[in-house]
Amino acid sequence: MSPEENYKKIENFSREIGLDFFGVADIQAVKADFILSSEIKEKFNRAISLGKKLIPSVLDDIIDHPTPLYFHHYRQINFFLDRAALILADYIRDLGAQALPIPASQVIDWERQKAHLSHKKIGELAGLGWLGRNNLLINPEVGAQFRLVTILTDLPLKSDVPLSRDCASCYLCLSVCPVRAIKESQAEFDHWACFEQLKEFRRKGYVGQYICGICVKACSGPK
Ligand code: SF4
Ligand code: SF4
Repeated sequence: MSPEENYKKIENFSREIGLDFFGVADIQAVKADFILSSEIKEKFNRAISLGKKLIPSVLDDIIDHPTPLYFHHYRQINFFLDRAALILADYIRDLGAQALPIPASQVIDWERQKAHLSHKKIGELAGLGWLGRNNLLINPEVGAQFRLVTILTDLPLKSDVPLSRDCASCYLCLSVCPVRAIKESQAEFDHWACFEQLKEFRRKGYVGQYICGICVKACSGPK
């Protein structure tokens, strides 16, 4: 099958198993940064980015800190994405290609806060959104209210292109951040202040993981 036909087939299957967003990234220019073996990096030139929307009512529970309801949802969405990526990877392997699902949420370098790769970067290259002022991937339909997983593959696939959009004149999330980590320019995002706040939320026992949700709730897309 042609790269276009493969793309359509995989995209259709991803919808059937409940995924909301699908895109393909050409990773040749970025894979050197992946924290994976050179054997894996050499093998794959495409990454499939898959997204699942959050349920907005869960976010309604968040006022000024993450809640157990959000924590549970966050974990369930990650479980869903990991399972969907496994099913889709098997589907690709049945077509005779190789496919490697990358965990939706697994930090492997705590000091530098790094995962095997950046799902946000892959999603951006796959045309699913842009890097917003809140340092999250922003999708035109749902803003920051979705999560991502990635599959690396050698299946011939046409690749998407990044969106030529940004947050434009929207500044909605700047005022909601309790530590003012979100600035006018995404490049100025204060990673340190944000992470200190996540640690504080965890220390206070609101949730058992470094999550927040406040700027996710605020961002349902540019306003
Ligand atoms: S995750 Fe929370 S602390 Fe971090 S930028 Fe968003 S609102 Fe601020
Ligand atoms: S709320 Fe507005 S400014 Fe903030 S990330 Fe979303 S689109 Fe960008």
